Amino acid sequence: MSDITQSKPAASDAAHSPTLSGPLPTQLPILPLSDLVVFPHMVAPLLVTSALSIRLIDDVVAGNRLVGVVLQKVADQEHPRLADLQEFGCVVRVMRMLKFPDDSVRVLVQGLKRMKLVCLVTETPYLIAQIEQQEDITEPGIEMSALTRSAATQFQQVVELSPTLPDELKIAVQNIDDPSKLADIIATNINLGVEEKQGLLETVDVRVRLSLLCAMLNREQEVLHLGSEIQSKVNKAITKTQREYFLREQLKAIQKELGEAGESGGEIAELREKIDKAHMPAEVKKVSLKELDRLATVPPAAAEYTVARTYLDWLIAVPWSRGTEDKLDITRARRILNEDHYDLEQVKKRILEYLSVLKLKSESGKDAAVNKGPILCFVGPPGVGKTSLGMSIARAIGRKFMRISLGGVRDEAEIRGHRRTYIGALPGRIIQGLRRVESNNPVFMLDEIDKVGSDFRGDPSSALLEVLDPQQNNSFSDHYLEVPFDLSRVMFITTANLLEPIPPALRDRMEVIELPGYTEQEKVHIAIKYLVPRQLTEHGLKTKQLNIRKESFFSIIRQHTREAGVRNLERTIATICRRTARRIVEGRTSSVLVTPKHLKDFLGPPEYFHDMAEQQLEPGIAIGLAWTSAGGDILFIEGTQMPGKGHVTITGSVGDIMRESVQAALSYVRAHAHQLGIEPKFFDKHDIHVHVPAGAIPKDGPSAGLAMAVTLASLLTHRAIRPGVAMTGEITLRGKVLPIGGVKEKVLAAARSGIRVVLLPEQNRKDLHDVPTEIRKKMKFVFVKTIADAFNAAIPAPPSRQAA
Ligand code: ADP
Repeated sequence: MSDITQSKPAASDAAHSPTLSGPLPTQLPILPLSDLVVFPHMVAPLLVTSALSIRLIDDVVAGNRLVGVVLQKVADQEHPRLADLQEFGCVVRVMRMLKFPDDSVRVLVQGLKRMKLVCLVTETPYLIAQIEQQEDITEPGIEMSALTRSAATQFQQVVELSPTLPDELKIAVQNIDDPSKLADIIATNINLGVEEKQGLLETVDVRVRLSLLCAMLNREQEVLHLGSEIQSKVNKAITKTQREYFLREQLKAIQKELGEAGESGGEIAELREKIDKAHMPAEVKKVSLKELDRLATVPPAAAEYTVARTYLDWLIAVPWSRGTEDKLDITRARRILNEDHYDLEQVKKRILEYLSVLKLKSESGKDAAVNKGPILCFVGPPGVGKTSLGMSIARAIGRKFMRISLGGVRDEAEIRGHRRTYIGALPGRIIQGLRRVESNNPVFMLDEIDKVGSDFRGDPSSALLEVLDPQQNNSFSDHYLEVPFDLSRVMFITTANLLEPIPPALRDRMEVIELPGYTEQEKVHIAIKYLVPRQLTEHGLKTKQLNIRKESFFSIIRQHTREAGVRNLERTIATICRRTARRIVEGRTSSVLVTPKHLKDFLGPPEYFHDMAEQQLEPGIAIGLAWTSAGGDILFIEGTQMPGKGHVTITGSVGDIMRESVQAALSYVRAHAHQLGIEPKFFDKHDIHVHVPAGAIPKDGPSAGLAMAVTLASLLTHRAIRPGVAMTGEITLRGKVLPIGGVKEKVLAAARSGIRVVLLPEQNRKDLHDVPTEIRKKMKFVFVKTIADAFNAAIPAPPSRQAA
């Protein structure tokens, strides 16, 4: 350690000009300094502690008071030798010396002149060296004046910014004309490292010294600027929070005074904590905190308080960043899908493809959860497993499942929420659903998208468009929340009974997967493999306690259910399980066997008669096939004649299109009266009434045209249609039969009702391959091009002559 350290420089003295009386000696005692560079003109206090240096000072003070001070190369070296010192130093005069009781000495020195060490004279008792004083190199000129002025101005600015430099320094530098002196005084006062200071000391060329200095001043200015900016920001923040705190305290005092003592204080703090923990996006957090601040000012008894509080609760509860992690294991997913559902191969295949894409995306580092693909739409009658398939997908990828029904939704606000200005406003069903599942990436099923209506309250399908559009649903705006929510991680699946009623714009956004309904065989299989085991578990029964024979399922399906799906079948099985459970609990038996014979005991008498369609019909009755939201169904069409004047009445909640079909059928029959063997004057003397039971159920569509025409022909020719025949097809006035939709559903419905022969338009021949083979084998299909073809196929020819 060096024995000399710097005390605070006496900066304000620095402007005093050093006085030199006579030439400097060429040999001087050298005092090493550990961390201080002394410049000419500078007055610096030094603390001297080592005995050696104290002796040096003593001797110097007794003599000419001149000493050379030089910076050590290594700061903490004890007793440095000449080689351990920098080459340049400063000749100083010791102005004052003070001895302290602890034997240390303080001296005040004044810098006189730059010097260079030449060689050692002696090392004992202290360093004495040969020195060479250094003259400044100055070339007066424009550049020098410019540098001088610039250094002075910059320094003044630094003084202004600096919290430590006294203002007098500004005046001091103004009065210095000598560029060298100016440079040294500035160097003394600004904040520089010792190396930099030493560098300036060694630069005898004043121009170079000034330009170095200007660069350093520049830097210093920037540092100070930044420092003051930070400082003012901190100050502002502190004053703002202090101000807010102060205002809040005042507010509390006012509320207390008004008797509205702030019970909400604890609540506010609690809400603040919840907001912090809710991991909201920054924008939402800002809104929440603003609302919270507002809440703090509202007395808890005010109605507004509840409104703001509810809003905040919603903001906190919405799962902004909470979600589940996807399990993208394809083998596992396939196992789960097969575990839950029989067949439905096409759907399962599509879902596995979907998962594979997610997996590839996540492996390539993309955000797999963000769905950009089309939304799946399951279309099919009730009970075919649309909903349970959705649940199964959720289980397969490890997501939560949410389902809402859109049936009858007419108001856009149901999807998008009400604005908060409404009394009792709430977010829309999408946000409500997400809050309920507490996840931002569930499988979200929108049921009955075909039953969305629209009226004066707005069009919900436009809101749905936004929800289902992968391009824009990352910032779904709910009217209530008012802040956008990212729906892009949600896997939406929609379901519908029929495709037609879905608005085309919505349909375009979706990939439709049809689930048309099951055949009898399939239903039996589903019952045995899936429904019964599930119901047994749900009713706490063991396999051996209930044995339902396979034939019983056929009877249940035919006599107790009439559906495309298996919902009623499952319900019926549940009834059997319940009754079995009761028998076992009552101790009447330990196990139950169910054969077709026993069904009556469990389920009561049959509700449907499978052979109804097989019975012989009267003339004027035909069986049509309808495509309904419940799948397909058979439709009896009755016609009757009575004396009159040629009026036609149509009843049975028939829509316009079906009404027109009756008219077309009648016109055809009238036009072909002669061929059909109908008396030409008949229509002038008779009225005709066509009725389509069940009268309370609305029916429409052109596909009953063929059945209407055949009904009328049968009625007017008094010839009955063969039993077990059903038909479907649109007709033209010229008697052509046009293709129709829903062949598969209609054929399945016909099979369910015991129909054996189906008349189909020739152009629907291609659709038959969608019909399960099992049905195709069992039934007969007749493809017709004209009404006459149908008539011939449906009505047996009279023994005497051939019809039409
Ligand atoms: P939807 O939503 O189409 O009306 P659900 O999903 O409610 O029909 O299905 C009704 C019941 O039928 C559910 O319990 C479901 O598990 C069962 N189900 C339907 N299809 C199948 C199938 N292919 N395999 C096994 N169970 C099925």
